[in-house]
Amino acid sequence: MKQKVHDFELDDEGHWMAKLSCGHYQHVRHDPPLRVREWVLTSEGRLSRVGQELNCIKCDNDQPRDF
Ligand SMILES: [Zn+2]
Repeated sequence: MKQKVHDFELDDEGHWMAKLSCGHYQHVRHDPPLRVREWVLTSEGRLSRVGQELNCIKCDNDQPRDF
């Protein structure tokens, strides 16, 4: 299910996660698998992605909210 990016946060290991409007986190580096996206490393890059949509697999699987 497509969900809008609300914000970005670092996880405990220092990996960036997108906070989605549905209440789920999604690791940005997992899409595509195991590739770090350069834009996520700068605040400008992250800000430019806020409001865009990501496919939320957790929604598709009816998983409870992360936050
Ligand atoms: Zn979701």
